[in-house]
Amino acid sequence: MQYLPLFVKLTDKPVLIIGGGSVALRKAGTLLSAGARLTVVAKQFTDDFVQWQQQGKATLIHGSFDPVQLDGMLLVIAATDDDQLNDTVYQAATARNMLVNTVDDQPKCSFIFPSIIDRSPILIAISSFGTAPVLARRLREKLEALLPQHLGPLAQLVGRFRSKVKAKISGFAARRQFWEQVFDSDVVRDVQANQLQQAEQRLEQLLAQPQQQAGEVYVVGAGPGDPELLTLKALQLMQQADVVVYDYLVSDEIMQLVRRDAERICVGKRAGDHSVPQQDTNQLLIALALAGKKVCRLKGGDPFIFGRGGEEIQALLPHNIAFQVVPGVTAAAGCAAYAGIPLTHRDYAQSVQFVTGHCRPDGTEPDWHSMSKSNQTLVIYMGLMKAAHIQQQLTIAGRSGKTPVAIIENGTRREQRIVTGELDNLAALVQQHQVSSPALLVIGEVVSLQQDLHWFGQKPQSAVFGQALTRME
Ligand code: SAH
Repeated sequence: MQYLPLFVKLTDKPVLIIGGGSVALRKAGTLLSAGARLTVVAKQFTDDFVQWQQQGKATLIHGSFDPVQLDGMLLVIAATDDDQLNDTVYQAATARNMLVNTVDDQPKCSFIFPSIIDRSPILIAISSFGTAPVLARRLREKLEALLPQHLGPLAQLVGRFRSKVKAKISGFAARRQFWEQVFDSDVVRDVQANQLQQAEQRLEQLLAQPQQQAGEVYVVGAGPGDPELLTLKALQLMQQADVVVYDYLVSDEIMQLVRRDAERICVGKRAGDHSVPQQDTNQLLIALALAGKKVCRLKGGDPFIFGRGGEEIQALLPHNIAFQVVPGVTAAAGCAAYAGIPLTHRDYAQSVQFVTGHCRPDGTEPDWHSMSKSNQTLVIYMGLMKAAHIQQQLTIAGRSGKTPVAIIENGTRREQRIVTGELDNLAALVQQHQVSSPALLVIGEVVSLQQDLHWFGQKPQSAVFGQALTRME
């Protein structure tokens, strides 16, 4: 962190500005809106400065900069069009350990003015610290559009009730629950409709009879890794939950979007390494929900596709625990899109099968025969360790050894890697390229399209397609 963001109370605090032109004026306007007491030094001033002086908002000094003018100041702004003079101001202020901003000269700034989104008392400050101002501005526009105007009055209302709530409800967790309840209630709608009195009455009522929060489980698909593939609903529930129970497939970037003060419990699971048995995860969800918690059960991909989401919900049923299910982009859809492999294509594949490479505990094999026909796509989850077996069984069942295959490691993530080849060398590819989990196997004629449709991340590592593809007429 190059700079530490701080919000500074400037009411009646002395601030010195050197410069009386339009650039200085902009800074002066911002500082005045924060209540600063301005002293401005310049040879000439624009009209607004003169007016501010008449209104008693600023003291103007007609003349040159002199370091004694720094005495007693909290902040200094060098805003002249004379680089030499700006530098003199910067050096003098720095020598006195004062915070100084030199307009449009970032190396000579010990503090900067961020872009501001003002929903007072809610304030958001954004900065790229001079590196990408246009990007910061665009981000600000996006946030402006996202944040409703009624945020300000809502925060003011809440602010008026804070000490009352603190006196009535003891314990941080209980108070947080109360406020969650308020933000989910019609209080928000009233404020939105500018019915502030009604909002206040409603809040009084809620405080008079706070309701016991009932626990609930949100079974949420987090998608394959790229946080931008989260659904809006997933994000909303991740922000609401008291506890997030997640597994290893949920990327770190996604976990950063979880509410900051939510408890996080990892029930990480890799093939062959069942760190928390499923039974224990089920019991954990039940216990948390029965204790009144909003639990977000965050799973990689889609919870109902090789995600055991169904089993976890079945475990909740006898306890009458409320639940919701939020679908996610499953690895097959996400990885295929980011690898440039259309899973179906009128010319190459009329169907797609999602298959698990994990055998059932009783050793039953999948129906290799049904998967051996050409012009259908197979997407194999958890198949990495079984690559040799899959290659062998499909070939025995009659699928051509020349069928194109792709192995997609860390699909949709920045470190995505794709290895392509043919069914005959599937296991060898996994070995040679030391592919690691999570990885998906895609087998089928559609994989050849990847050469033209690839768009994301690194180019595939080996593309050997031995013979012409069978095109369906
Ligand atoms: N419910 C998940 C699948 C869980 S099974 C879903 O719908 O996607 C776990 C398997 O999914 C992994 O072994 C791997 O085969 C696949 N997988 C999940 N995320 C992946 C990713 N980002 N890249 C490649 N494979 C992934």
